[in-house]
Amino acid sequence: MNIKEPMPDERGYFGEFGGQIIPPELKLIMDEIKDAYLDISKTQAFKDELNDLYTHYVGRPSPVFYAKRLSEKLGGAKIFLKREDLNHTGAHKINHCLGEALLARHMGKTKVIAETGAGQHGVALATACALVGLNCEIHMGEVDIEKEHPNVTKMKILGCTLVPVSRGTRTLKDAVDSAFEEYLKDPKNFIYAIGSVVGPHPFPMMVRDFQSIVGKESRQQFIEQQGGLPEVVVACVGGGSNAIGMFDAFLDDESVKLVGVEPAGKGLDTPCHAASMSKGVKGSLHGFECYSLQDESGEPLPVYSIASGLDYPGVGPQHCLLKDMGLADYEAIDDKECLDAFMTLSRVEGIIPALESAHAVAYAMKIAPTMSANQSILVNLSGRGDKDADFVAETLGL
Ligand SMILES: *Cc1c(COP(=O)(O)O)cnc(C)c1O
Repeated sequence: MNIKEPMPDERGYFGEFGGQIIPPELKLIMDEIKDAYLDISKTQAFKDELNDLYTHYVGRPSPVFYAKRLSEKLGGAKIFLKREDLNHTGAHKINHCLGEALLARHMGKTKVIAETGAGQHGVALATACALVGLNCEIHMGEVDIEKEHPNVTKMKILGCTLVPVSRGTRTLKDAVDSAFEEYLKDPKNFIYAIGSVVGPHPFPMMVRDFQSIVGKESRQQFIEQQGGLPEVVVACVGGGSNAIGMFDAFLDDESVKLVGVEPAGKGLDTPCHAASMSKGVKGSLHGFECYSLQDESGEPLPVYSIASGLDYPGVGPQHCLLKDMGLADYEAIDDKECLDAFMTLSRVEGIIPALESAHAVAYAMKIAPTMSANQSILVNLSGRGDKDADFVAETLGL
């Protein structure tokens, strides 16, 4: 297969991954979303509106920063950081939430629905909906509501309806079920805004397209600053949106090695991780085909990571294809390495990363000493760590 073929194909497949593993009624609705997206994404008015928001609302382009002290401390390759942590709301998620909100408004949808685990997707979506003037309803497990107090407060202030979910384990999985049930009550008028490059077609394509601004800017900025390309590009992988947004611009650059970093949690030989690529099997999950962590009956396994934004039992279909084609590598970083990178970046560069992003930083720190000083690693710093600061301080007894 040639990677230059349009991805995904007409049916929403990236090789054998992706697609629409959903009932026929829902397939019609998803196709309506796809058609509306393909229509408006080509219009100049939509491109102009989104780009204007990226510039004046999100604060794009985010800088590419040379982490000089970190690089010198490690002794080896130069490490560069794409500062998605500096975006409005503090992470890359606003890039696709704005796109989804504009699409919802264009389609005349009356309510935008989503689930949230740690509250990151909820806050980014509630922000985009406040800006665009849309009703937003976020489903969240009661356990997570207690744990993620600052994000819950933000969502309330931003005016979204927060639906506490009291069934099952009262966490992310139950929130997904609850949000999906609400969506099915009126899928013509509601839209389910998926928070990563997962779910049925067209979401993996659409969310990738909205996130591709990250790689596009990075590639250009890096060439301008360094006069060439980095040897390695690294990003953390939960569902895979920040990683595919970054990788997209480098797919034709044969000299650039792409590495996605999954959470090894308490170790790949324990049940406490969320390494769908390293340990998963081919199967279907939440309406699409991917590598996923599941039991013999095909039920998603409980997953764990110190970074709650990475604990998803599957991974976006395009990543699965890139892995099978050998066009990207997927590595795992455990909680301890992640915490070490979190503290090191904070103390050596004055940048507190999200625990998710610290996985990518940890991988860069691992390989930098094995490379030479005229080589470079570009890391997508997907978000800032304010949300994790109290937890880390408590964990490390600071
Ligand atoms: C949600 C989140 C992630 C994981 O999501 P992807 O879709 O894999 O990018 C990574 N980093 C941050 C800061 C997040 O909030």
